[in-house]
Amino acid sequence: MSARILVVDDTPLNLKVLEAKLARDYYFVTTASSGPQALEIAQAQRPDLILLDVMMPDMDGFEVCERLKANAVIKHIPVVMVTALSDVKDRVHGLESGADDFLTKPINETALLARVRSLLRLKLMMDEWRMREETATRFALPFEEGTDENDKGGKILLLEDDSYSAEHLQKDLTAMGCSVTAVESIDKALDHVAQDAYDLVMISLDLRDEDGLRLCANLRAAENTRTLPILLMSQDTDMERVARGLDLGANDYIMRPIETAELSARTRTQLRQKRYYDRLHRNYEHHLSLALVDPLTGAYNRRYLDMHFPAIFARSKNETRPLSVLSLDLDHFKSVNDRFGHAAGDVVLKEVISRVKQSLRPADLVVRMGGEEFAILTPDTPLATALNVAERLRLAIATKPIEIEGQAEPLPITASFGVASLNHESDKDPALLLERADMAVYHAKQAGRNCTKS
Ligand code: GH3
Ligand code: MG
Ligand code: MG
Repeated sequence: MSARILVVDDTPLNLKVLEAKLARDYYFVTTASSGPQALEIAQAQRPDLILLDVMMPDMDGFEVCERLKANAVIKHIPVVMVTALSDVKDRVHGLESGADDFLTKPINETALLARVRSLLRLKLMMDEWRMREETATRFALPFEEGTDENDKGGKILLLEDDSYSAEHLQKDLTAMGCSVTAVESIDKALDHVAQDAYDLVMISLDLRDEDGLRLCANLRAAENTRTLPILLMSQDTDMERVARGLDLGANDYIMRPIETAELSARTRTQLRQKRYYDRLHRNYEHHLSLALVDPLTGAYNRRYLDMHFPAIFARSKNETRPLSVLSLDLDHFKSVNDRFGHAAGDVVLKEVISRVKQSLRPADLVVRMGGEEFAILTPDTPLATALNVAERLRLAIATKPIEIEGQAEPLPITASFGVASLNHESDKDPALLLERADMAVYHAKQAGRNCTKS
């Protein structure tokens, strides 16, 4: 994965050294020798990552970072601060001005490259989600607003077998408003994440009998924890393993002895990012359902049928399995609207589909084809069974009049059904099956309604 990296430093030699290190790994490097120049280039070129020196005349790295993070267009670009200072206060200051990491000069190459890779991977994923959100905005789809992600509270799982350290961490994190579950083994940690939703997992890389990286790998391999933030804790002599952890997908790390202020800054960054990601994800699922589901009845829409039916049809044909389609059309529905109003008609539609869904299997698919016409796809169902299903649905509608608010008497409603089944010899096109089901429902109407024909 190559990427464009902006390196900012007022000392030409430092720029050269960093540029050479990064270019050796095939990154494209741009350089800036002052804060103002860095801001200009960041805005114009939108690099994928910024390496930022702290000590610069005119505008120091902290201020540059704050300005980058205050600009909506470029605030998503990850920033790694690079400094000769190694004071905890500076590190925390850097993190609080919005930096994603803080590396100390002379730069450990392993640490630098692992960090660059992990931040780029994260940015790529977030870019993808942001793109989806931008698309949704362009189509004027509604989405959940919220820009300043909350970093308070949070549920944390802590894997640490040193009871002294675990106690300290628990105390600090609780004081930040987090709730902490501490465990001493990887198996216990896996049990917990399987049962509960956590916001962050903190993993010690200094366990006595186990390798914390194994939990890291396990969490990344499982679908439901693939994006769960991971914060590693390690001795600063163990940079190789931290780098392995970052490559496995850990989001961040903190070195022992763990300072409260740094712990707090790193934890809050992870919680904020998780909430941002969760919001984008919720919006995406919501948009997907808006695009494919009829909001009134909760049935799938025509667009979904067009996308999905060819695959169901092809599978049934290839594996010579039965497939039936039911067509449902409410009887004299226009007169329901005419007599009781459109809102009453809506209630009827909703209730009918709710009853229909209750009488079907999970594999069956209910699609609103338009108005008061629905199609029901029943895979692995031969004609005789499909006729029974249709009769069951017909009775579920007809035998219990529908309650309408404001009406003294519940409304008797009926529907007509047509059934068609796949003929493995002659059917070549899924559309023909739908047409035959429509023909059949037409016959049911002719035959007096409230009945099923094939
Ligand atoms: P038939 O028994 O022959 O099917 O007669 P029908 O009145 O059910 O059929 P027709 O196709 O003539 O009328 C369908 C009516 O469904 C007309 C339309 O106003 C109404 N309709 C379509 N969509 C909706 C909806 O979303 N809500 C409500 N309340 N009515 C709808
Ligand atoms: Mg009708
Ligand atoms: Mg109709």
